[in-house]
Amino acid sequence: MGSRRNFIKRSGLISLGLFSNPLIPALPGNLQDDPGAIKITGVDAIYFNNAHWTWIRVHTSAGITGLGETYPFTRSQVGAVKDLVSVIIGKDPRDIEGIWKSLYTRAAFNVTGGAEMRIISAIDIALWDILGKYYKAPLYRLLGGKARENIHVYNTTNGIGDWTNEKDIERITEFFLGNGIKAMKIWPFDPVARKNTGSYISPSEIESNLDWIKRIRNTAGSEMEIGVEFHAYWNLPAAQRIATALEPYQIMWIEDIMFPENVEAYAKLASETSIPVCVSERLATSYPYARLFTEKACDIAMFDVTWCGGLTAAKKIADLADTFMIPSAPHTYGGPVLWYASAHLAIALTNLWIMESGYYFYHDVYPGFIEEVLVPVNGVVVPPDEPGLGMKIKEGLLDQKDTVVEKIA
Ligand SMILES: [Mg+2]
Repeated sequence: MGSRRNFIKRSGLISLGLFSNPLIPALPGNLQDDPGAIKITGVDAIYFNNAHWTWIRVHTSAGITGLGETYPFTRSQVGAVKDLVSVIIGKDPRDIEGIWKSLYTRAAFNVTGGAEMRIISAIDIALWDILGKYYKAPLYRLLGGKARENIHVYNTTNGIGDWTNEKDIERITEFFLGNGIKAMKIWPFDPVARKNTGSYISPSEIESNLDWIKRIRNTAGSEMEIGVEFHAYWNLPAAQRIATALEPYQIMWIEDIMFPENVEAYAKLASETSIPVCVSERLATSYPYARLFTEKACDIAMFDVTWCGGLTAAKKIADLADTFMIPSAPHTYGGPVLWYASAHLAIALTNLWIMESGYYFYHDVYPGFIEEVLVPVNGVVVPPDEPGLGMKIKEGLLDQKDTVVEKIA
């Protein structure tokens, strides 16, 4: 008893910090010697004549900078960051939740969405990048650590080189299977949707648009998952007809077949089809997802961290989905910051279904902008272990003629 009482007494003293115990290792750098004061001192908008995304760079008094992203670039985003920047200048960049709420509360006066939400997303990711660099930790560690060893990816197929889905879908399918990528996403119904303004589809139009799906199945059997994307072109009866026709093909999901705002239409579709209904990269914050989940209108939660309110909002969407036994599927069809930020989040999610990847982007586009591009190997990807996003901008990128660096504050 005596030694136990002594131990409890000593432990109490340790927790009060009254003496140091040589058995307890020193905390790493900043945790022990936290300088306390770090402030946001400046913000730049960075955009490109030869790329479709916008970067937001946040400067701090500690000399650390963070990089965030949204896309596609619009001039209104530069306006939005000018409007919102006063909310964050002088704030401690580590106070991410509070800053997010302040930005959202300000933007919500202007109807939440559009340029404001895109810029909130980019600022939020930049703050997470700063946090990771400050504490010398990769973002996934700060998001809860690894919930899995790696991240399965699907490929969004807009052709490889000059191969097209029309002519080469067998070759494309074999190319991805050969690289261990066992899921792909296509949008065969989009041309007829545009022709018919999404208001009507005939049985013969449905039949002819099953062609790519049948050819993938003939090539890969059940080895290849097929996600079908609809870009929200259709009304409910057309969506019902298409979903019925897709039933025999083991479809991974039907994505954004209607605008995501009508929860009742989605609930009806989801109640009728056995194919998982996926919505929606176009939604922001966890608030609209709450209703989608309670109304049984969504089987797979898709979000885009550079659109939905950044990593802060994306984590909440994913965790909310998880409580409804609904998996998450991060959308990543933007720039390299989106790709890296999504990888850090996805490896930390307990409810990851699969993450998007774009061969065209990581193979053809990102190498022009960043060093040592993160690429899937054998169908999986693992985020880097360097602090923050762990993404290195190519030397000289910000000085070249196609890059615009606009100092906002
Ligand atoms: Mg989509």
